[in-house]
Amino acid sequence: MLNEGHSVLCLHNLITGHKRNIQHLLGDPGFRFQEHDVTQPIAVETQAIFHLASPASPPGYLDYPLETSLVNSLGTYNLLELARANRASFLLASTSEVYGEPEVHPQSEEYWGHVNPLGARSCYDESKRFAESLTMTYVRKFDLDARIIRIFNTYGPHSDPNDGRVVPNFVTQAIKGQPITVYGNGTQTRSLCYVSDMVDGIIKAMFTEGTKGQVFNLGNPDERTVIEFAQVIKRLSGSASPIEFRSPISEDDPTRRCPDISRARSYLKWEPKVDLEEGLLKTIAWFRQVDC
Ligand code: UDP
Repeated sequence: MLNEGHSVLCLHNLITGHKRNIQHLLGDPGFRFQEHDVTQPIAVETQAIFHLASPASPPGYLDYPLETSLVNSLGTYNLLELARANRASFLLASTSEVYGEPEVHPQSEEYWGHVNPLGARSCYDESKRFAESLTMTYVRKFDLDARIIRIFNTYGPHSDPNDGRVVPNFVTQAIKGQPITVYGNGTQTRSLCYVSDMVDGIIKAMFTEGTKGQVFNLGNPDERTVIEFAQVIKRLSGSASPIEFRSPISEDDPTRRCPDISRARSYLKWEPKVDLEEGLLKTIAWFRQVDC
């Protein structure tokens, strides 16, 4: 956004993020950082709001269940009100977790999902579902220029080595020669999207004409098993780490997940460009350089 000449105000309460990720932007005259929790209202002038605030890794939201429920409910309400006051465009970052343990494969936007409303993950899944519902209410009731994206598993440089997700875990374990921890039997599937592709999709969803009131899956449809991720990361990092199976798998861990991205392909002219090996090589190089 800065490269395209926009001014950017970055709000973050830093509970799961790190200021070092924006260190290189702090001297830019177009960039301002403010430590702020969006569950508190804020009054600023703005033309576009990207609502990306929420813990998003399973260990992250399991450590902060209340903050997660509130940022996606109250935080979404505050930012929708801010968008309404400014007549600003709004983008809600939702998640593939709204599909829960899917009975439909791959998941398209029409699928309503299969979510456990009471489980440990529900602080995330259900609050994101509520955030989607609230966003659509603002589109219908106030004609707000809002859209929703459902982000599938994303990885790359600048992710927190300790955030517990599959790529940061496997890459740091492989680099350090520690056991690579596969939860369950490793046959569960995911499809990993490299961060630059995701950012490109997010910008297109916000600024493409005719996206008001629409929802888009954003992710890479290249579906693999978790055991495959372990093997590829081990090979690409030249690691001698053993692959270890850890049981039991965590509660409500989806057994299959893969996005149907036909809608993003046709409306946004978007699809991922970075394949798994290329993205993982860049990620491994970054993790080595930060000396995790
Ligand atoms: N996983 C694993 N070992 C790890 C971390 C994750 O086997 O050290 C598995 C996890 O059980 C899940 C998949 O990798 O099936 C993706 O997990 P992640 O936490 O990255 O994201 P999720 O898709 O569950 O939100």
